[in-house]
Amino acid sequence: MSLLEVNDIHTYYGKIHALKGISLTVEQGEIVTLIGGNGAGKTTTLNTICGITPASSGTVILNGEDITRRKPHDIVTLGVVQSPEGRKIFTRLTVQENLEMGAFTRDDKGSIGNDMDSVFKHFPRLKERQKQLGGTLSGGEQQMLAIGRAMMAQPHILLLDEPSMGLAPLLVREIFDVITTLNRNAGTTILLVEQNAHMALAVADRGYVLQSGYITHADTASALRQDPSIIEAYLGV
Ligand code: ATP
Repeated sequence: MSLLEVNDIHTYYGKIHALKGISLTVEQGEIVTLIGGNGAGKTTTLNTICGITPASSGTVILNGEDITRRKPHDIVTLGVVQSPEGRKIFTRLTVQENLEMGAFTRDDKGSIGNDMDSVFKHFPRLKERQKQLGGTLSGGEQQMLAIGRAMMAQPHILLLDEPSMGLAPLLVREIFDVITTLNRNAGTTILLVEQNAHMALAVADRGYVLQSGYITHADTASALRQDPSIIEAYLGV
């Protein structure tokens, strides 16, 4: 049984048919990436999984349980946690308070301190800045904070929406290193939406290519990296 199974979802914004039958799976321990151009439906896929933009048909199954019609906060409690596009941290709260907000759905408040230590281990720069306001961090640090905050909810699966967006190349590399480390060392399963197909396919086990609300390719990341049509359309060669 897959950790996450998305079956033939259709999602609309009013009359706009954004997802036209998306199916995908994510296995425990994998990094799976969704790549594709602007408006392909990547963010909508994540938001449909999270219950923010519910599917009009199709199903989302987590660990065998149908979560298609569950409310977003229930879905977070079940362990599907998103770090949204554009970071969306709380700029007027400190780093530490932002991280505490990530744990608000948990009822095991006693172990939150341990998890914060673990986030600080992954992101030493956040520890140095723990009393600083979120809004004073650099773009890369805010991205780390957004990922750290999502980790505080103890995800079974972490959904990352464009973590490299707007970052300088060196920071992009650093963010992708962190994603790999979270997966390898913390065992976190990750569904990664990216426009940076190069980096995404370098860290992922498998990938799906979205175009205009459809999946056009589904394969291992290494096969996608060698596919001439993917190279031409998404890898800029
Ligand atoms: P990007 O990287 O540009 O965010 P994406 O692959 O994440 O692209 P989506 O944001 O999921 O794409 O958009 C899929 C389609 O749905 C697009 O045609 C987009 O214009 C439309 N869409 C997205 N959000 C809304 C909304 N709130 N209202 C109406 N249409 C929307």
